[in-house]
Formats: sequence, structure tokens, C-alpha cells
Amino acid sequence: MSKTRDPHPIEVLLQQALDAVRRGHHREGLQRAEQALALLPAADEAGRALATRLITLNLWRLGQPERAVHTGQRALALYRQLGDAAGEAETLVSLCMAYVALGLYRDALDAAVRALAAARESGDRRIESWALNRIGVAYEALADAELAARYLHEALTLARSHGGEEEQFAALCNLASNALVAATGHRDGGRLAAAGAAISAARNHATEALALARRSGNVHREVLALSNLAEALVEDGDNGGAAALITEYGELAERQGFRPLELAARLDHASLRQREGDHAGAVAQLDALLRELPAEANTEIRRKVEQALYVSNKTLARPAQALAHHEVHARLEREHLVQRADAQARVLLERLEFEKAKRELALARDDAQAQRARAIELEIEQHRLRARAEAMARAAHEDPLTGLHNRRLIEDMLPAVLRAALSAATPLALVMLDVDHFKRVNDGHGHAVGDRVLASLAQLLRQHTRSSDLLARVGGEEFLLVLPGATIEQAADKCAQLRAAVERHRWGEGVPPDLVLTISLGVSALAPQDDSGLLMARADAALYGAKRDGRNRVVVG
Ligand code: GH3
Ligand code: MG
Ligand code: MG
Repeated sequence: MSKTRDPHPIEVLLQQALDAVRRGHHREGLQRAEQALALLPAADEAGRALATRLITLNLWRLGQPERAVHTGQRALALYRQLGDAAGEAETLVSLCMAYVALGLYRDALDAAVRALAAARESGDRRIESWALNRIGVAYEALADAELAARYLHEALTLARSHGGEEEQFAALCNLASNALVAATGHRDGGRLAAAGAAISAARNHATEALALARRSGNVHREVLALSNLAEALVEDGDNGGAAALITEYGELAERQGFRPLELAARLDHASLRQREGDHAGAVAQLDALLRELPAEANTEIRRKVEQALYVSNKTLARPAQALAHHEVHARLEREHLVQRADAQARVLLERLEFEKAKRELALARDDAQAQRARAIELEIEQHRLRARAEAMARAAHEDPLTGLHNRRLIEDMLPAVLRAALSAATPLALVMLDVDHFKRVNDGHGHAVGDRVLASLAQLLRQHTRSSDLLARVGGEEFLLVLPGATIEQAADKCAQLRAAVERHRWGEGVPPDLVLTISLGVSALAPQDDSGLLMARADAALYGAKRDGRNRVVVG
């Protein structure tokens, strides 16, 4: 019989999970941590906390943020119970990134700030550097690049004095991407010297990150660093240098089975061709890439490939192909936004349930009288919060009366749509539409008839527009149309058709048959320096002009 006891299999599994994370093998890390959790006895709270935290980290890394938030909450509760501030901070660091991936940036910042407090409480400076890093990432997501840079620099300083290579690597990568964002801002604002300085800062950070990654022997890190440096070189106009790095990281990714990064490298190659004006070459590469992507999955890379195919086909004067890709891209973007809003609502709801369960546990220790009173209070609070979360989920997508988008979705989407149109140099028009003398419909026939008219007007608008156009009800009887690809002349023609269609429309069941309605429309076209506010303001002013000139007409702003 052997005298040295074999390590317990659970400890082995947890150690393997930690090693896998260190090597960047997240699928394996997830598997080991899940196996460990299944074997761990309920009494081993420290073991369960660690396994749950590792599951959270790996889920986030594997692109499953919703599940990561779900397990992250449980890991947090376990660490709190144990009074383990360091574990709590490490969990919050992963949770923060899952929130970023879900687009819940305020929650991400909140998690990062709590991570910093817990890290400082634990006295672990390495975790403190991670927390500072995540605060930087959250500010970056909230579009405050300057504040982001401050925290990222602080994270780097701390990582250099107290952290390991991984902490330094993360800070350098995030600083590089922060500098590239800053460079774009400077360039757009015409500050060319500042843009140049930011680009060379990005190059330096990325170069240092690559050196660290190569030394660490972690191939995943090396691939990321190569891709970051390639991006900086592209911005610096060094296409040849960038191409070599992209090839290197693509081959490495392929050899290691990092499939998403392998595909990203191929997209990078095609984008480089576009930059050099070789659109035929870019289309050939992109078409081949598209064939390998699973058709039903709405992934970021698929959306980027469709967008790139649209741009290149358009430049090659192939309108049919360009339009087809534009339509797919627009549909994928819409679906993506709606799915993300759904996930956000589910995460918020689940958190409410969880908070409630936790408070109920605490209540069990109170005396019965107080307990009953507080339970009722909590029930009411819970009910209110749930109603609010549900309302938020609904409000996130659509207007309930017409089924069109609502103002909020448009406001979320429009900046990205405009940026895409501007960078692709494709026209885009925006229309504000208001029903003339609508008050008379309500006053003469009642509010219910008014509602029916609005619903069937929405249907009419849908019939007369393309699936890639965006339609929204932005006020009582006011609608907004975004027509990607339309010049101002085409948009004005479309508006004239709509105006005529509404005037001759019979409103159908439940509405007096002789009811004739007219609409006024204001059109604006996207100009190079526009933002969504300016574009809408011009359409609004044009609509006001149409009303002032007698209604039932189209005015171009
Ligand atoms: P004009 O735009 O031509 O200047 O005249 P208007 O009568 O349409 O003027 P205004 O925009 O001031 O009035 C809009 C009316 O639309 C006010 C309100 O009674 C009605 N309205 C707003 N929302 C709804 C709704 O959801 N359902 C119904 N039935 N009516 C609505
Ligand atoms: Mg009106
Ligand atoms: Mg109005």
C-alpha cells in the first residue's frame, strides 16, 4: 500500500482548472471547474466558491456573458459568506467584463468599483491592479477615453511594481486600444499631431505587450498581442508590417484551434486589401470567409463581413450584391440589438430574484413580528422592481400600439447606423412624418378610432418601405423613417409616394369610410460632419416648414 496519499481528485481538478486558465485554455478550464463543483460537498464553501468563480471567468472568456453573470452572483455570495475579500474582488473583476459584453456599462463600472474596494480591503495589490484595469475598461465602454486612460495607467504602474506578467499584459493591451480610440477622436477633430502621438503610444504599448506575451509562452496572449500590434500598424499606415503580423497570428490561431481569432485574421487581411483599394481581392476573401461562417449564427464577425462585402461591392459598382449584403447587415444589426436588450432584461430580473432570496435568508433570523412586516414590504418592492424590469424589456424594443420601433431603440441604433453610412460613404436619408390635424380625428370620432388609424398607418408605412429601412413611432402621431442607401432625391420621391398613398387610403374596419387623412413630411440627408441630433433637427425643421406652408406636403431640409 502506498504511504503518500494521492491528492484528492477535487483538488486535482481545481488545480487543472487554474492551470488551464493560466494557459488560456478556457474550454478545458470550464470543464474542470464544473467537474470539481459537481463533486464538492456542500460544506466545502471555499472549494465551491473557487470552482464557481472559475466557471464565471471561463464563461465570460468563452463569450457567454449571460451565464457568467448568473454564476458570478453565486460566487460573490459564497465569498461574502466566507468573508474572503480577495475572492470577492476577483469575482467582481470577471463580472465587470461580463456586464461589458452585455452592454450593461453602468453595472460594469459598479462591479469594477466594488472590486477595487474589496481588493484594497484584502491588501492584495495584484488584484487591485486588475480592478483598476476594469474601471478603465468600463469607462472606455462608457466613452470616457480620458478617464479610462488614467485608470489604465494606474493599473499598469501597480502591475509593474506588484503584479505579474499577466497583469502587465492586460494593462498594456487595454492602453493600446485606448490610445487607438483616442487617435480616432483626435483625427476626427482635426488634431493631427495629437493623433500621431496617440498612434505611436499605441504602437509602443502593443510592442511591449507582444514582448511580454512571447516571453510568457502563453500562445493565446501572443495571438492577441499580434492582432493588437497589427491594428496599431494599420493606423500608422504601415500596411506591409501589419500584413506580416496578421499572417503570423492567423497561422498561430489556426494551429492552436483558436477558431474565432483565425477568422478574425482573415477578416483583417480582407480589410487591409480594402484599404489598399483592391476591392475585387477583398470580395474574393470575404466571400470565402462568409461561406465558412455558420449561416444561422449572428456573430460580430458575420456582421463585419456583411458590412465589408457591402462596401466593396458598392465600390465595384455591383449594386445588386451591395444591396443584398446591406440588407443582411441591417437585419443582423437589428436582431443583435434586440437580443442584447432581451439578455439585459433577463439579467436584471434574475438579479432582483437573487437579492430577494438573499434578503429572505437574512429575515429568517429576525423575530416573527418584524419578519412579517418586512416580508410584505419586500414583496411590494419586489413587485415594483419586477414590473419596472419588465416594462424596461418591453420599452427596449417596440411601440406597443404599432409594433414599430420606439424612440429609444432608434436613439440607441442611429449613431452606429450613421457611422457605418459615413465610413462606407453611402447616402442615407431621414424623414420625420406627422399626421395633419390628427386632433380632429380624436375629437370627432374618439380616441379608439384614433388608435386604429395610427396602427393602420404604421402598416401602410411598412408596406411602402424596404426591410432595411428603419421605422419608428417617436411621438403620438409622429413617425421617423431612416432610409439607408437613399439619396435626398430618392428619399423625396419615396415621401411623395407615401403622402399620396395616405391621402387615398381607406382606413378600413372601425373607422368612418369617408375619413381622409393627410400627412406632412420633412426630409434630411446625411452630411459628412453630421450626428444623429443634427440630422433629426434638420428633418424636424423641414417638417415644421411643411406644416407652415399648408400641410399635406414634403419639404426637403
Ligand atoms: P398638426 O400636426 O397638423 O399641426 O395638427 P395635430 O392636430 O395633429 O396637432 P398635434 O400634433 O398638436 O396633436 C396631436 C394629437 O394626437 C394630440 C393627441 O390628441 C393625439 N394623440 C397623441 N397620441 C395619441 C395616441 O396614442 N392615440 C390617439 N388616438 N391619439 C393620440
Ligand atoms: Mg399632427
Ligand atoms: Mg404632432
